Amino acid sequence: MLLTNRRVVSHDSRQIGQRRQDTRLGTRQGQGGTVDVPILMYHQISATPHPAYAQYSQSTAQFARQMRWLAARGYTTLSLDSLVRCRGGAESWPRRPVAITIDDGYADAVRAALEVLPKHGFTATVFLVTGAVGGRSRWDAGVDLPLAGWELVRELRQAGIHCGSHTVTHRRLTELEADACRRELEDAKRDIEDRLGEPVRHLSYPFGAINPEVRRLAAAAGYETGCAVTIGLSTDDDDPLMLRRVRILGTDGFADFVCRLRTGRAVSDAARRGLRRLLGRAPSS
Ligand SMILES: [Zn+2]
Repeated sequence: MLLTNRRVVSHDSRQIGQRRQDTRLGTRQGQGGTVDVPILMYHQISATPHPAYAQYSQSTAQFARQMRWLAARGYTTLSLDSLVRCRGGAESWPRRPVAITIDDGYADAVRAALEVLPKHGFTATVFLVTGAVGGRSRWDAGVDLPLAGWELVRELRQAGIHCGSHTVTHRRLTELEADACRRELEDAKRDIEDRLGEPVRHLSYPFGAINPEVRRLAAAAGYETGCAVTIGLSTDDDDPLMLRRVRILGTDGFADFVCRLRTGRAVSDAARRGLRRLLGRAPSS
């Protein structure tokens, strides 16, 4: 069986023999009570996904089904502030923790989040590109989508959904001079803070582009976490400024959603890795 609580086909190779699964709670726990958390990474959520962006688009119905499934199985959504506090011991881990992140701030995705998440008492973090709020996305070739304006963003906050920074212009930070990179990080943070009147501590790196210098500048700008696009469950030894996430793709089936939630990987990838282990070969990635 791939998807029951008792048996999961694929674990991160580091987890083999080191971690156990709490089958009662469905939370993967390591020695010493460590907890691995799926940080789900969404982009667009829309009833009419853009054909050129299908891989990164969930239909609203698909998203609603995923959230219903999480709620029915007793998952608790964590804000990234709570994730930091739980990791630091300042807050107790909830039952079946999962974090939801939504990159880019597409208007349809924000409306879907507002429609679906409060029904389940769920929270999420939406990462905004501050220089384009209320405008259009133009950072992916062939994709040009409307972005939520500040009024919709304020509705998010009133609904208990958090906002983080996805920089000012969504450029690859690794390709910028230090000063330009610093401005992208600091100006986006300050803009959201000014408009929402609360601290912004969380960042998502555009295109997942990060290197040690970008990480250093993000820390200096005052970010506590940085979400990368490295695939996997977030473990206790994750660098907070390079958190691993779990991709949720529009091209996946529902079984892939469940498998990704438990292992970080889609069914075919998880099965391939499981098979490699059975054959005694270390997974290549
Ligand atoms: Zn993005």
